[in-house]
Amino acid sequence: MTDTTASTGTARPARVVLLGPPGAGKGTQAALLAEHLGVPAISTGDIFRANVAGGTPLGVEAKRYMDAGEYVPDEVTNRMVVDRLAEGDAARGFLLDGYPRTTAQVRTLDEALASAGTHLDGVLEITADTDVVVERLLNRAAEQGRSDDTEEVVRRRLEVYAEQTAPLAAAYGSRGLLVSVDGVGPVGEVQRRALAALASLLEPGAGASAAGGA
Ligand code: ADP
Repeated sequence: MTDTTASTGTARPARVVLLGPPGAGKGTQAALLAEHLGVPAISTGDIFRANVAGGTPLGVEAKRYMDAGEYVPDEVTNRMVVDRLAEGDAARGFLLDGYPRTTAQVRTLDEALASAGTHLDGVLEITADTDVVVERLLNRAAEQGRSDDTEEVVRRRLEVYAEQTAPLAAAYGSRGLLVSVDGVGPVGEVQRRALAALASLLEPGAGASAAGGA
């Protein structure tokens, strides 16, 4: 936590989804933005990886899909996220990284928020060209040795994203909830764009002053 949260005055709950292809830099931006907002960053990929590392039944099931570049079944993912959102720290908002990725997940999230008497504030899409994300993912493979980062699996993950997740941007757009930023550039520059976009989602008309707080 830093004092940027207090200085921007975004003390009210913020419920935001980060959308974007694998390798667009969602994880990096999620951590920075969540700290800025004072809400937890909730990454389904991280939760799955923690379960894989811990050898839990959920991890054993998820790993089969992850290693093939496929999505973990909606039923499994939805249950996990609904449980996570019910934890106390998410009551004052959240930044979801990597969820929802399918229309069924969008529906589950809407229903979970509605039954808690609340709703999504907005969706921040981080875009990047396929060539850029393939290169980033293959570099990450060399550095981190993730078992889902081989070239074949990377290409499959991008295909699945294009088929199942890319259409969600248009769906959220038609609900007036979407803002997109270019994820190509230095991390600090992308963060500046992301903060400005976030401000426009959370406080329409006050974007410039909130972004300046960074
Ligand atoms: P990336 O954004 O690089 O694809 P993540 O760390 O977000 O990676 O996710 C890793 C893997 O975890 C995905 O390829 C998928 O198998 C699984 N996963 C993460 N989030 C979801 C989700 N919302 N629905 C289904 N599977 C998911």
